[in-house]
Amino acid sequence: MDYQQVIENIYQEILPYAKEGKQATYIPELAKVNPDQFGMCINTIYGESASIESADTRFSIQSISKVFSLAMCLSIKGDELWKRVGKEPSGTKFNSLVQLELEQGIPRNPFLNSGAIVMADILLSTLANPEEDFLNFVRAVSGNNTIDYNREVAASERENGYLNAAIVNLLKYNKNIDNEIERVLQFYFLMCSVEMSCRELSLAFLAFANHRRKFDYAGITLTASQVKRMNAIMQTCGFYDEAGEFAYLVGLPGKSGVGGGIVAIYPLQYSVAVWSPRLNAKGNSVMGLKALELLTSETKESIF
Ligand code: GLN
Repeated sequence: MDYQQVIENIYQEILPYAKEGKQATYIPELAKVNPDQFGMCINTIYGESASIESADTRFSIQSISKVFSLAMCLSIKGDELWKRVGKEPSGTKFNSLVQLELEQGIPRNPFLNSGAIVMADILLSTLANPEEDFLNFVRAVSGNNTIDYNREVAASERENGYLNAAIVNLLKYNKNIDNEIERVLQFYFLMCSVEMSCRELSLAFLAFANHRRKFDYAGITLTASQVKRMNAIMQTCGFYDEAGEFAYLVGLPGKSGVGGGIVAIYPLQYSVAVWSPRLNAKGNSVMGLKALELLTSETKESIF
């Protein structure tokens, strides 16, 4: 498959959507990003690579970081993790409080903010140096030591993070948070603030695309079966209340973030990352979604 040709064609086809949607503004630092950017990069497990436009521009990975924290929590806790967070799709917005109240502080899945906040608490309780250990893991899985947090983005989110503060309080009230809530929130926002490019994300996610390769990065190990299960959760929960639509239109496991990034994997074939800051009403990148829909339609490659 000539992926370079495929993505060049796709780019031409998605240009009419370039002004659709709006970038996230509830995190003031993200509102400063030029919304009119697009990047895409695909890497196969055989070492082929194709990229286009701003594939090497770093952006805020936001909720994509939840895949990395899930890998760490699964490695550390194994199936014990599922006592504190579920693995069912929610059908709700990523920062919804309603279900969390009804279900007494057990988040539906690890990719909701509530689920990721519980994972932040678990990592704080189990890692010697949580901030350093998380970054070391992301760097190891990406094979790139220059990846870093953006502390301004994290601080900007903390200053305006009223809804996430409500979520952590509701969790704490229900005894699903062990650490001090301010510490948990700050660590959660810091993990969300990691910046990576499409190329870097796509290379990092090869670790999930190829479950036959040993998963062992900076002391974080997963079995092939755990990697496959992470992909199952990406498939069912990676896009919040748009997970069904993503499965329908794209047909690959993946994860999005409000920075406008989306990563998806075609197991045992490739990992692809797209980025464009303008989001639809559900918080997913408009051009990113369109590009991935065209990718699996034009190549006729999807898990279905
Ligand atoms: N940091 C963001 C938040 O907590 C992440 C949300 C997202 O990317 N969907 O709201």
